[in-house]
Amino acid sequence: MPDTSSVVIVGGGAAGCATAYFLAKAGIRATVIEREGVGSMASGFSSGGINPLEGAGIPGPLCELAMASFRLHQSIAPELVDESGVDYGLETISMLTLAFDDDAIPTLTETHRIFDSAGDGFWARWLDSGQATEIEPRIGPGAIRALETHGNAMLSSYRYTLALAQAAENMGAVVRSGNVTGVESSGGRVSSVTLESGPIECDAVVFATGPWSGQVAEWLGVPVPVEPLKGENLRMILPGQPQPTHDIIGGGVSIFHREEGQVWVGSSEERAGFDNEPSIAARDRLMALALRLMPAMADAELVLHTACLRPVTSDWLPIIGRAPGWDNAYLATGAGKKGILISTGMGKAVADVIASGSTDVPTGGLEPDRFEG
Ligand SMILES: Cc1cc2nc3c(=O)[nH]c(=O)nc-3n(C[C@H](O)[C@H](O)[C@H](O)COP(=O)(O)OP(=O)(O)OC[C@H]3O[C@@H](n4cnc5c(N)ncnc54)[C@H](O)[C@@H]3O)c2cc1C
Repeated sequence: MPDTSSVVIVGGGAAGCATAYFLAKAGIRATVIEREGVGSMASGFSSGGINPLEGAGIPGPLCELAMASFRLHQSIAPELVDESGVDYGLETISMLTLAFDDDAIPTLTETHRIFDSAGDGFWARWLDSGQATEIEPRIGPGAIRALETHGNAMLSSYRYTLALAQAAENMGAVVRSGNVTGVESSGGRVSSVTLESGPIECDAVVFATGPWSGQVAEWLGVPVPVEPLKGENLRMILPGQPQPTHDIIGGGVSIFHREEGQVWVGSSEERAGFDNEPSIAARDRLMALALRLMPAMADAELVLHTACLRPVTSDWLPIIGRAPGWDNAYLATGAGKKGILISTGMGKAVADVIASGSTDVPTGGLEPDRFEG
């Protein structure tokens, strides 16, 4: 086990802050180095969906980690809120997925099967358009059928990331502002990370650098195939109207009921390099789709238009564990569209391995060495 103050974590998003939190729980005080501000990138602007049953790699190789991470969210939340003093609003939600034509039915049938067989408080039921309208009278008149699902969760990803950082700090971790520009190493060990202000010595280093993880490939000489996938959300209010009780999904867009009575419309997906500026084209596209889902959105007022970058890998699976050929360098990155959900599992897995050499978090097949050769 390294000196208790000698783990450096590069990146103060959900992945880095979760790693710092679980290290602190294991009695290891880490230093998180973040160049922009904790939760200032995707971790601060995601939709905050904690949805373990569907997505890239689910069903498939991400299944077990997604469910383990979901359970970790549920189990740590009460303590994390207490330890940090930050309530990040984790709550179980229901969703209404609308079909506007027969082509949408096979996907809904599969979602029904998945939720129906999941147990653990998840369920799904078919609704005709009349039943769907009883739940949400404002849905689009073109919906021919709907699926109501229950059991997913949501949270404020910004406040969640702050909570992890704050709780870790309260247990002795340090959050430092700085831009890491490289590492010094010898004999397969990183001895220090280089900041513009000078080096910081370390016994172990965790790279939780999100979409900017390509730089780590240069520093360590190992493949880290992570690229940015831009995503935009519209945060809106519906003046004089109640917030929907369900997240409403269909036709390529979602209307989320989120914090402060807002409805969020999202999320776009675009390969645009490191451009993270909100665009009028994405705004107009999201609004056009949202109006079909819920025509009442015509009365909605835009509060904030956000854009940020998801870290996606070439196989759409996260990269978790020790870098190949290195004794003390670890990666916690590439979580794509599921980085808030699986941040608990990623952070605990890496913290366990640093603290004790192994983990019971199911990360098999997600290790960094899968890209070698
Ligand atoms: C529109 C949108 C909606 C989303 N919705 C969901 C959702 O509903 N559920 C879900 O689970 N996920 C969702 N995601 C995905 C999720 O937000 C990301 O997967 C997650 O936030 C990635 O976290 P991270 O810590 O790996 O990266 P980031 O949040 O990008 O954090 C990485 C940090 O590293 C710092 N950094 C990088 N290089 C350096 C350096 N050299 N020195 C110092 N600091 C450095 C950066 O400044 C950054 O703060 C969504 C994403 C988007 C864009």
